[in-house]
Parts: sequence; structure tokens; C-alpha cells
Amino acid sequence: MENKTFESFGLSNEILTALASLRYRKPTAVQEEVLAPALTKKDIMAQSQTGSGKTAAFGIPLCEQIIWEENKPQALIIVPTRELALQIKEELTNIGRLKRIKVTAVFGKSPFKIQKSELKQKSHIVVGTPGRLLEHLQEGTLKVDKVNSLVLDEADEMLNMGFIDQVEAIIDYLPTDRQTMLFSATMPSEVERLAEFYMKSDRLALSLESKQTKPAIQQSFIKVGDMDKPQLLLNLLTIENPDASIIFCNTKGAVDDLVTFLSKEGITVDKLHGGMDQDDRLAVMSDFRLGKLRYLVATDVAARGIDVDTVTHVINYDVPFEKESFTHRTGRTGRAGRKGLALTMVSDKDTYQWQTVRDYAFDETDELTEVFPPSQRLVSRMQAAFEKKSQSRLTPKAPRNKELNKGITKVYFNGGKKKKLRAIDFVGTLTNIKGVDADDIGIITIQENVTYIEILNGKGSFVISEMQDRTVKGKQLKVRKARK
Ligand code: AMP
Repeated sequence: MENKTFESFGLSNEILTALASLRYRKPTAVQEEVLAPALTKKDIMAQSQTGSGKTAAFGIPLCEQIIWEENKPQALIIVPTRELALQIKEELTNIGRLKRIKVTAVFGKSPFKIQKSELKQKSHIVVGTPGRLLEHLQEGTLKVDKVNSLVLDEADEMLNMGFIDQVEAIIDYLPTDRQTMLFSATMPSEVERLAEFYMKSDRLALSLESKQTKPAIQQSFIKVGDMDKPQLLLNLLTIENPDASIIFCNTKGAVDDLVTFLSKEGITVDKLHGGMDQDDRLAVMSDFRLGKLRYLVATDVAARGIDVDTVTHVINYDVPFEKESFTHRTGRTGRAGRKGLALTMVSDKDTYQWQTVRDYAFDETDELTEVFPPSQRLVSRMQAAFEKKSQSRLTPKAPRNKELNKGITKVYFNGGKKKKLRAIDFVGTLTNIKGVDADDIGIITIQENVTYIEILNGKGSFVISEMQDRTVKGKQLKVRKARK
């Protein structure tokens, strides 16, 4: 590998500064391969896992090429889950922060009307799940005539979840003169067909899988036989004593039962499954991401979007029903260059399915170690250290964008569209203040009755005090620091 720098791709200063603030010091393998062709608008299909830095691989070129002045969306990203949509929104907002790029996320089970009003405003990039994106297209609330880049992320998952017809229907709305990038952890024939049909014939096909995630994950399995499965898990956790772990079950019921068992044993644990309310799911994800939670018990559906760099252990409490899920589950560890451990518990009834998974996920060169139940003596010996860690408070991690957000103040104005205020009116007023220029203004969100503007470079309080006796387009507005 050539070990390129971000600078060598000729990116603009705004993007380079944002990457440095996010502590992205050098491109990951997938970024090294994807950035240059993506910047020339080439079609790309890449076999690549989550954790490889693929979001930034397509996100950096998208942000670099966005034209701020254009009001209609220029890039569309289709993803299988709302969690992933929100994560991509966050990452792209960070990367594009200094270019003031507005990213809007749309997904089901969330009010259509709010999304509609968000889409009505300037949105440079839209990311969403297939069903809701299609609804917005059918209702005419999402305009795509200026979209010149399409990203299909986790394409194999979208197929597994039965979204393929919706994905194709969405693509039919898009201009044909566009760039298409497709990312997928696995490349089943249906994904190849999708690429064949919707991408240019000179597309670049990259297989990056073996380069990154695989070697970083130490894979092992344990035969459960007739042992008490919850107790065996507890023993395994005791001797492994993970810093952060996701335990996967195949059903909601199994998740609930296991959480009850572990809680009774005095372990602080939370859960994530499709039957939970979306706000609860997001709150749990956020706790886990910030390191407030050491153990998470989850089903596949809910866990697809989990993007936490520091997961040290993935435990398959059940062998997944679908072989592809194995790759997705275990890909939650060994991320961003860290080492991870994956352990699969195999009951007698799972023997056949486990063989299917093994044939699918491993080849001769891959190491897969069989481990055996720990002896009671070993468990007892490790008990004290385990309890100590379980009871120790986790130090919440600083979010990656802390540096980038330093010096940013969100300012509230009590006037918006109803008063016929536009972004340009605010920019005009603000840049009239001595010492404030366009570079100090971040994302502007104009709603019906209110407007939020990010003021950068630590000038928020100054702007608020200056705005107390200035008007916007002749209108005196209440101006204060926004609450959220
Ligand atoms: P993804 O594969 O997009 O889910 O990204 C995995 C994680 O790596 C995310 O948390 C990113 O914030 C992080 N990341 C992406 N690119 C880089 C980079 N060049 N250097 C360090 N971390 C990165």
C-alpha cells in the first residue's frame, strides 16, 4: 500500500481541516482505493465491511463536490436501517461542517411532515431508508433532478431485508447521468445484478475485504452441548472480561430472557431489538457508543447500524439464521484498526447451520479456534477482576467531533419562512458585523417560525450580543443561544 495522505487527493482546505479535527490522520485502505476514482465521478462497487471507513470513503468525495449554492439535493444515499442513516448523517455533517453542508436523514416510523419540511429547505445530501425515500418521491416532497451521485450502502442488507423493489423504484426517479457507488459487505449474485443494471459498464470493482477487517478479528467457537447456556455465557464473560461487548441473539425473546438473566446476576446490560421504540433504541446506541454501557444484547435487525470502534468482543449467543449475518455481526469488532474477538456458541441443534456459516465465512487460510468451557476454578479465579470491572464506572468517551464542534454555538432567531427570511438575509446581516465573515457561519436551518444558525470560531456570544440591536431584513428578532 502506498500510504497516501488526505492532502495528496487535492481536497479543499475546509475538508482537510475537518478531517484533521476528527482525528482522521490518514486514509484507511478503502479510502485509499475509493477517494481518487470517486472524486472523478467514476462508478464504484466496493466489497467492504462496516468499520473499514467506508462512510468517509464515499462521504469525503460527496462533500468535496457539493456546491453550497444549489438548493436541491445533489447526492442521495440509500441505506437499510435508520440507525445507519443517522450515523451517516452525523459523519457527513462532520466532514462537511466547514463547508456548511446540510445533510437530511429520512426514515420510517418518524413523522413524515417534519421530514417534509426539512426537505423543503436546502438539503445538499439526503440519506434514507428505501420505503420512506420512495414515499417522499411519490409525494413530490423530495426533488432529485439535481442528484448527480447515488450511494447504495450495505446493498446486501437491503436485499436481505426485501427492499430491492423499492431501491429499484427509487433509482428509476434519478437522472441517468449520475455517479453510482455501491458498498456491500458481501457480493451475492443479486447485488452483482443490481450493479450490472444500474451502473456504468466501466465501473470499478474493488474487493477490499481481505485487506482490513478479517485479520483483525480473532474467531473462535464453543460447543455448548447440554450445558446451561446463560450460565456458560456468564462464565465466558467472566474470564474474558471484555471492555465492551455485543452479544447477539436470534430473536427478541432470547434478547429479553438473556437481559433478565444477566441483570439478575448484577451485570449492567442493555438491549437493542426491533420491537423497541425508536427513541429508546437511539438512546441505548448512544450510551453504548459513548462508553456508558459495557454489554449490549441485540438482534441482527437492531444491530446493523452499530458503529462503535471500541467493541472488543462479539459473542454469538445463537448461530445466526442467515449466514450473511455472521459477517455483519462479527464485523462490529476489530474496527478502525483495532483487534477484536468473536466467539460463537454452538448448540447441538445449531450444528448444521454452523457448518453452513463456516463454509460461507471462512476459507482454508482463516483461523478459527475451538475453545472449551472454562473450568469452575478458572471462573472463580477471574471473578474478582470481573466484578471490579463491571462495577467500575466507565469513563464516557469524548465524541469524535468534539474538536470540530469546539467554538460552535447554535444561535436561535425567532423568525423564519413566515417572515420571508432566507439564508442570504441572515448571512448579509451577520457579515455586516465587524469581525464576522462568511467563514464564521455554519449550517443555517430555517423553519416556519424560527431559524437556527451555527456560529463558528468561538464568535457565538459576540454575535448574539451584536444582534440584540440589529435587524434581519428590517425585522427585529429575538436572538439567543439555542437550547439544543
Ligand atoms: P465506517 O466503516 O464508515 O463505519 O467507519 C468506521 C469508523 O472509522 C467510524 O467511526 C469513523 O469515524 C472512523 N474513521 C473513518 N475514516 C477514518 C480515518 N481515516 N481515520 C480514523 N478513523 C476513521
